[in-house]
Amino acid sequence: MTNHPLTNDESPYQLFTIQNMNDIDFNSEENLIESILIVDDQPANLRVLSKMLQGKNYKVKKASDGESAIIAAQSNPPDLILLDILMPNMNGYQVCENLKADKKTKDIPVIFISALSDVFDKIKAFNVGGIDYITKPFQEEEVLARISTQLTIQTQRKLLEKERVLLEKEQETLRKEIRQRKEAEAILYQSRALISSILNASLDGIAALEAVRDTNTGNIVDFRCIVVNPVTAQIFNSQPEDLTGKLVFKKFINKIKPELFPAFIKVVETGKALEEDIKYIYKNEQKWFHFIAVKLGDGFSVTVRDITVRKKLELKLSKLATIDGLTGVYNRHCFDNTLIQEWQRCGRENKPLSLILCDVDYFKPYNDIYGHQQGDSCLIKVAQTMDNIVKRSSDFLARYGGEEFAIILPNTSLEGAVNIAEKMRQEILNLKIPHEGSKICQYVTLSLGVASIIPSSKSSLAILIKSADDGLYKAKDNGRNQVIFNYHELVVNS
Ligand SMILES: [Mg+2]
Repeated sequence: MTNHPLTNDESPYQLFTIQNMNDIDFNSEENLIESILIVDDQPANLRVLSKMLQGKNYKVKKASDGESAIIAAQSNPPDLILLDILMPNMNGYQVCENLKADKKTKDIPVIFISALSDVFDKIKAFNVGGIDYITKPFQEEEVLARISTQLTIQTQRKLLEKERVLLEKEQETLRKEIRQRKEAEAILYQSRALISSILNASLDGIAALEAVRDTNTGNIVDFRCIVVNPVTAQIFNSQPEDLTGKLVFKKFINKIKPELFPAFIKVVETGKALEEDIKYIYKNEQKWFHFIAVKLGDGFSVTVRDITVRKKLELKLSKLATIDGLTGVYNRHCFDNTLIQEWQRCGRENKPLSLILCDVDYFKPYNDIYGHQQGDSCLIKVAQTMDNIVKRSSDFLARYGGEEFAIILPNTSLEGAVNIAEKMRQEILNLKIPHEGSKICQYVTLSLGVASIIPSSKSSLAILIKSADDGLYKAKDNGRNQVIFNYHELVVNS
């Protein structure tokens, strides 16, 4: 240790000596890590301290009065300030107070410098924010030790502060993450609840199925139920939990419509949606379902709607479209279609197809005498009577025109058809519906033409119809209330 008996005003420069010149590397700017601002109104003191500190690799800045010290500290805050107490204009206490009041400089440690002769108020020095003090004359080791201690404390403080900030940031990140997770959880929970409520409340069947593939070939062998809502389960006559995860799809679909299974595979392989109506016997009741299957991952989702009510209504309507509104027997449009179908069928089966065309005799005079309302009820009675005679499911009675009726009799010989026609003629007569306008009978009568043919490429539907029609015409011509059959042959032979 070396003592430097120094006064604050007498050539202090000579009294400072650097102990080990070898310790100092003046050329290395990099080593000047920590910066120290020296504030003193005595240039000699500035020089001595500056040289001593530079010798210890500190970066030194100097200020000779309080104002410039504050400006220097604010513009480029040093790591430590050595502050003289006695200075003109602004003394050290005031400078320190100013520095501590500024956010930018408040954390810079301040070490006061005082001469022994100074009236130095230590309490005041600490109160204004100083952390230590050094008295002149300096003892170099003491100065360096005090500076080093404060810088170390400062460095530690900064490190701690840095760590605190870092920790705070980490905590904030963590808090944010927790918050986000909670939010995501809430959203997930809500969407699960939403999906579940939609699935449970849906009037449609909703299900999701995943493909089950053969491990060797990779081909789809079945579909496993992933999601099944209550309506879907009901179709299967079970509970959702009984179907989830189960391999029941192929078995089920094969019972209803086996060709649908490859169609569902196609949905998965092509991504093209499948939409269809299917008929399904459920609890001994015929049901119709409309479904849409859409590819979903390696599987598909399917929505199934019970359309039984609509389908039954459609069938009823389509039946209504085939019925004659007045008499309740089939209409002409339906007759035309049925005759073509039966012609083809009997042709394929090489069976005779018979046709009866009949006409209420003198119906125009009947209408004129009894009125149209009475005329209508007469036609209804005639139709009902004939309808009671054609009993077989394949026999087909239709209203052909105003007072004309037609009966298609598949797989019926000419003889059988004539018998039916004759029975009809008899039964209508037996109704004894008074007919004052008839020139042949006091009751309503019927004229009938019958034709029979085995459909072939040599014959035609037109010939069959013409033959029956010609028979009817002949019956009228012959005096009505009679059956004329196979007039076609007569025409052809004559
Ligand atoms: Mg001074």
